[in-house]
Amino acid sequence: MLFGRKKKNPIKIADKEIVDWKYTTCGYCSTGCSIEVGINKQGKAVSSRGVASADVNRGKLCVKGIFEHELFDTAGRGETPLYRDKYIEDFREISWDDAFDTMAEKFKAIQEKYGRDSVAVISTGQILTEEFYTLGKLTRGAIGTNNYDGNTTLCMASAVSGYKRSFGADGPPGCYEDFEHTDCLIAFGSNLPEQHPIIYWRLKEAMEKRKFPLIVVDPRVTMLAQFADMHLPITPGTDVVLLNSLAHVILDEGLEDAEYINAHTNGYEEFKALVADYDPITAAKICGIDEDTIRNVARLYAKAGAAMSIWTMGINQSTHGSDGVVGVNNLNLITGNIGKPGGTSLSITGQCNAMGTREWSSCSGLPGYRYLENPEDRAEIAEFWGIDKEFFPKKRGLFQTDIFPAIETGQIKALWLVASNPMSSLPNTERIRKTLEKLEFFVVQDAYSDVESVHYANMYLPASIWAEKNGCFTNTERRVNRITNVQPPYANSKPDLWIFNQLAKRFNHYQQMNFPETSEEVFEEMKQLSKGKERNLDISGMSYEKIEKNGGLQWPCREGEEQGAQRLYVDGKFPYADGKAKLIPLLFADNNERPDNEFPFWLNTGRVVEHFHTRTRTGKMGNCNKYSPTPYMEMNPDAADDQGIEHMSYVRVVSRRSDAVVMVQLTQRIPYNMVFIPFHFHDCANRLTLGLLDPYSRQPAFKQNAVRIEKIDQKEAAQRNVEARAF
Ligand code: SF4
Repeated sequence: MLFGRKKKNPIKIADKEIVDWKYTTCGYCSTGCSIEVGINKQGKAVSSRGVASADVNRGKLCVKGIFEHELFDTAGRGETPLYRDKYIEDFREISWDDAFDTMAEKFKAIQEKYGRDSVAVISTGQILTEEFYTLGKLTRGAIGTNNYDGNTTLCMASAVSGYKRSFGADGPPGCYEDFEHTDCLIAFGSNLPEQHPIIYWRLKEAMEKRKFPLIVVDPRVTMLAQFADMHLPITPGTDVVLLNSLAHVILDEGLEDAEYINAHTNGYEEFKALVADYDPITAAKICGIDEDTIRNVARLYAKAGAAMSIWTMGINQSTHGSDGVVGVNNLNLITGNIGKPGGTSLSITGQCNAMGTREWSSCSGLPGYRYLENPEDRAEIAEFWGIDKEFFPKKRGLFQTDIFPAIETGQIKALWLVASNPMSSLPNTERIRKTLEKLEFFVVQDAYSDVESVHYANMYLPASIWAEKNGCFTNTERRVNRITNVQPPYANSKPDLWIFNQLAKRFNHYQQMNFPETSEEVFEEMKQLSKGKERNLDISGMSYEKIEKNGGLQWPCREGEEQGAQRLYVDGKFPYADGKAKLIPLLFADNNERPDNEFPFWLNTGRVVEHFHTRTRTGKMGNCNKYSPTPYMEMNPDAADDQGIEHMSYVRVVSRRSDAVVMVQLTQRIPYNMVFIPFHFHDCANRLTLGLLDPYSRQPAFKQNAVRIEKIDQKEAAQRNVEARAF
């Protein structure tokens, strides 16, 4: 008898006739994987592969990156500008010139009638850094509205705010290489294998070479928790209590790094007095982690030669997200774990260029981490851009999550959305729908004309995607990498940089200001603004050629330097005036929506590996959508049994806001009193979420909501689901 492959034809890999491989960087998550896109004889992108020499991904790509070349031809791409007077009418095609003329005319008329800030601009973490800089220049310097923000407010605003409060400036101080040096790692609310698969691979590879304890803090038994040495299933929204308690044990047992605290921090006495109240016995009752585990983790972390913390949305998307980040920083400051190999606070950023918007978009101030509140920063940028410094507001305007309520109350009349989809991404979808209907003029600029928010728009501008453009992204570890235009723009779509520059021509200040046409010219302008000894965000030593040659460069990379710096604060000097970081006491306030008799389950939301954000792209990509086509809900089998709910049946989930229909997946990954729904699907998780806001970052608490589960007719539910998913 013959076994194996002897009688079978050999596997033949289809020859895609690739004649060229073009370098670029992945346009999904913030890991920043270097990609080569294979181009065939007809000039079409037909394959993607990881770049073996790139330090970030070393040849690997995840399920999203490996099919990224398919993006160029996905359904729903916008082909030409569209316009209608009222959103209930049909769109008609218009020329780019007419679109810009109309947009400028409408914005100016609304500003004249209601004031400059009655026009709001909300951007993204998806476009190129040079485009962010130009959009900021246009919005702050020419249009002149202060109600300008990015959708990083839904993602990394708490990390930004926490870094600023603790260290005096934004910027993740660590890097992926820290995995290779650390002796202990705590991951707070971060499920790397699904969210950032290649960062997870870097971590796993480091652990295989040199074992160190991995501790995961998460209410669910996530994929990362399954690989961990210790899993701490924390009660939602109580991170600050756990962090204060860890600090309590460290100080109580004399495990702190007193030398580092004395030399490099302020506020120790106040901090010590506050954490004295958070003994493990008291803390255990609030955060759900038993006192012995708290003590063990505190000792393990403090006694490790180098220890590091990573976190994602489990910390950030909370009513005390900013405090959670400060709590992580406090832990690392008292143990001397900042700026040393393997010792760091490393936020794992969400979108491919969420860092680029933080650095250069001017959303929260002025470019290059400058502040509107600082008169010298205002004067410097005004002079550089050639405008009067009095044109700038003296403090930042509304965050995105405050812009929508301001539309509701009539303060804001016009909105320009750039690559952002609040109809799916913001909490409480029904409220957002009604809010968008109130706008007098609403423009959506996006690569896809079928994004849900376009239904309410007066104007749609088709933007080119990712590698149809030329410029840079910055990844989680401050690495600036190149995106090259491996394909020409689709149909009559245009690069965002071109769109911003054309609109700028319609505003008064254009005559005084210089808006360079090419990305490389814009990059040179940013380099000039970044130069300065005291500035960490210094890219003056970079050039497009050098970035590409190195597979990305980390900032600071100062003029004359060959390489960028892997870590910040290596010398223990922080960007506060006295050079010291702050230890900040954090009082816990229990202000979340909690389960009760009427709504007995916590609703937790998050991501799955196959999809990115609101599925604008991955919802149409063959394999990504095939593997994860349906909105589902993880539920504990015992809880389901008690409610008479079966595996793979449809249920209605009801919150105080609205309801959603999902398919049940029974799993012991989730505790008895919680359910989990991926947020990617439209008209699903965010119909239910409340989204109370963090007081510092204004980031919504997507993960702490209360719901009940109801049984429904299965046929009707299946039909509703098919209709809702039809593109
Ligand atoms: Fe792209 Fe992130 Fe996947 Fe890397 S890990 S291929 S950057 S989606």
